[in-house]
Amino acid sequence: MSDFRDYYDVSKFRPQHVKMLELINDLGPKFAERAAKHDKEASFPTQNYNELRDAGFLRLVIPEEFGGMGFSLGEYATIGAEIGKYCGASALTFNMHTSSTMWLRFMYEMPNLTDAERTAFARMREIQFPKVVNDGAIFSQPISEGGANWTSEPIKTNCRRVEGGWVINGFKKFASLAGNCDYYSIVCTEHFEGKDPAHEDTMDFAVHKDTKGLSIVGDWDPIGMRGTVSRDLVLKDVFVSEDDLMMPAGVFGKTLSQWPHMMATLTPAYMGVAQSAYDFTVEYLRGETPGLPPIDRRIYPTKRAAVGRMFQRLTEMRTLWTTAFFEARAFPSKAEVMRVYAAQYAVMEGVQELAALAIRTCGGQSMLKSLPLERIYRDSRCGALMLPYTTEIMEDYLSMMTLYDMDDVDQVTSDTASARVSMWRPAS
Ligand SMILES: Cc1cc2nc3c(=O)[nH]c(=O)nc-3n(C[C@H](O)[C@H](O)[C@H](O)COP(=O)(O)OP(=O)(O)OC[C@H]3O[C@@H](n4cnc5c(N)ncnc54)[C@H](O)[C@@H]3O)c2cc1C
Repeated sequence: MSDFRDYYDVSKFRPQHVKMLELINDLGPKFAERAAKHDKEASFPTQNYNELRDAGFLRLVIPEEFGGMGFSLGEYATIGAEIGKYCGASALTFNMHTSSTMWLRFMYEMPNLTDAERTAFARMREIQFPKVVNDGAIFSQPISEGGANWTSEPIKTNCRRVEGGWVINGFKKFASLAGNCDYYSIVCTEHFEGKDPAHEDTMDFAVHKDTKGLSIVGDWDPIGMRGTVSRDLVLKDVFVSEDDLMMPAGVFGKTLSQWPHMMATLTPAYMGVAQSAYDFTVEYLRGETPGLPPIDRRIYPTKRAAVGRMFQRLTEMRTLWTTAFFEARAFPSKAEVMRVYAAQYAVMEGVQELAALAIRTCGGQSMLKSLPLERIYRDSRCGALMLPYTTEIMEDYLSMMTLYDMDDVDQVTSDTASARVSMWRPAS
């Protein structure tokens, strides 16, 4: 297994950052050991989460004044990728949790909030952060609803004002951590009498797992990322109050579009999976795979060439991805946005190419379920289809940004429903 110092220049990293990278690499081998069982059973890696919690990882991006570690988005990304090197599913769900805390952190810091929004937001942070810092709570982030791309139309799950709060009704598809988290961060649209559902009425509530009206439904038997346990949620007249809010009304729309890197945070898990495909191949060809006879397969020039190609692809992906994440900020420039879209594309497509090449290079035995490459290959297939930044959508955004001036983007006719609501626009 590669050491993170093989691909990062840690002389540029803060000591706390290096310490957490070391820590995750201490925990990682156990995650890798457990990954086979959770993949087979499609069960949740609870023990991994207990260890992540004990080591402080659940509060990684929470501001220090709230008892968190205050990691930047780029620092988080490198941690997520190290987890993914050992267990892709753990890294993917770790992102759902961390993203929920990231929104509370970074959206609050946005310069375009009004004073009233910032005051309301400050109170929400005082309620939500301690749940993680003091109680070790895990948050999930079920946004997807299946069938309707939430980047094109307002979220279908809705809330309506009632005495003392709101009631939520709706359905969430692919709720990673279903049954294994303490809070579901439920993004929904507030409905008003006589007004059509609108993006600006998007709301976000922390719904406790035991709340009346919340149920987990459906089975979970997917091709890959099985340990995420991404079952469906039904919300039937779920009551929530002001105390459950995770973002003031209207803030979702005005902040996320100006923080585009925040939606690229599914990539760390897949960056890690890509690294593990490469690492497996190197170990295998050197005859160092645990449990297998020490056969030296480096003697074949074809295999050597393939590994050279894998290293080149992996380095290209990692370099672009690291650059994009370390320049992440609110109100980025067009060039920065295009880099993060390109990085998203490179990782989600590249991981599949690497895993496929690893299987081709290592050969027949590497497909056996007794070895991790077969799982890595299946996990690698899941990244490109994850909304809102599927690789198809990244192609669309980049095609528009390369060929048109930003002022013209919204005038270009499209023969299909557009997914461009999530697309970055220059701040006016
Ligand atoms: C392992 C796993 C875990 C997941 N966990 C979560 C989670 O925790 N939270 C969460 O919110 N979601 C989660 N998802 C869901 C994921 O992000 C996507 O929403 C889901 O995979 C989309 O599948 P669909 O069939 O519903 O897509 P559809 O909405 O049917 O879209 C299918 C494809 O069509 C393309 N497409 C759709 N609309 C447009 C458009 N307007 N323009 C151009 N192209 C378009 C997209 O590229 C998309 O890939 C998870 C998915 C997986 C596989």
